[in-house]
Amino acid sequence: MRVLVTGGAGYVGSVVTAQLLAAGHEVVVVDDLSTGHADAVPQGAVFHNLSIAALDPVLGDWNIEAAIHFAAKSLVGESVREPALYWRNNVVGTIALLDSLRAHGVPRIVFSSSAATYGEPEQVPIREDQATRPTSPYGSSKLAVDLALGDYARSYGMTAVSLRYFNVAGAMRATSGVSYGERHDTETHLIPNALRAAAAAGEPLSLFGTDYPTDDGTCVRDYIHVVDLADAHVRALTVGGPGEHHIVNLGSGTGYSVRQVLDTVREVTGRDVPVVEVARRAGDPAVLVASNERAVGLLGWAPTRDLTQMVADAWEFEQRQG
Ligand code: UDP
Repeated sequence: MRVLVTGGAGYVGSVVTAQLLAAGHEVVVVDDLSTGHADAVPQGAVFHNLSIAALDPVLGDWNIEAAIHFAAKSLVGESVREPALYWRNNVVGTIALLDSLRAHGVPRIVFSSSAATYGEPEQVPIREDQATRPTSPYGSSKLAVDLALGDYARSYGMTAVSLRYFNVAGAMRATSGVSYGERHDTETHLIPNALRAAAAAGEPLSLFGTDYPTDDGTCVRDYIHVVDLADAHVRALTVGGPGEHHIVNLGSGTGYSVRQVLDTVREVTGRDVPVVEVARRAGDPAVLVASNERAVGLLGWAPTRDLTQMVADAWEFEQRQG
């Protein structure tokens, strides 16, 4: 299949591109490099340095059969300070993309959605039919697109899949020896921050909140290896039919507390992770764990890489980056 990947110079987009190429697909990457890195676009993909807003005049020339849409702003804190940026980029930008796909007869889209659409969960594990009450403009922007995809699928006969990610971690080492991993200028995620604290003695990790109603007082999250996550995208390209929109959680179904993650980082790296315990970070729910029954049933998918593997792969990537 000839697949358009928006945001293919980013963390998840580059890993999905590498896996699509390995599975024999042709890939056209579009990325404006606002947060991505040109050298992260896997060899073998055609790369255009373009924003999704500038896609319409050229899309018709590319004979695209399906799109996987990652290009988006993804910092929760920034979204609270600058919601307009998130509504404009993630929502208005995506609607323009959907209209271009429609105009040029691209029938299928897989969208990078998020567990942030659920907000504070009513029940754990979280199923896809649970109430969606996002607690940040980032989550709202992902939910708005999920809703639009349902409408576009029903009324325009598109095939759409929204993949709601839980906590993505790890890195990919391609057969070529090239590695793809997390290289955010502003890094807010626990595992890369903990690895940096392990690497740079004296720079402690801020642990946000030790008074949550969990076994050890710290937040519990569901971590999923980026290679398993990417595998689900490749599978999502062939599920559903015209008029259908499927929403699918991608998580392992198992939760780990922040302290458990930090212990895993200490074990894998053999180093200390200095920590300062600070107040809760606004908007962090106590426990987020996915039900992945739908992913297993619909995609025939199951995660195969555990937390230790995620931390080990992220650590190797971090060290290669220096
Ligand atoms: N966290 C932390 N210190 C950090 C980054 C994250 O204590 O430097 C905590 C955060 O409060 C949350 C968990 O680690 O409980 C996972 O946060 P992350 O930002 O990785 O993912 P999120 O669940 O917010 O999408």
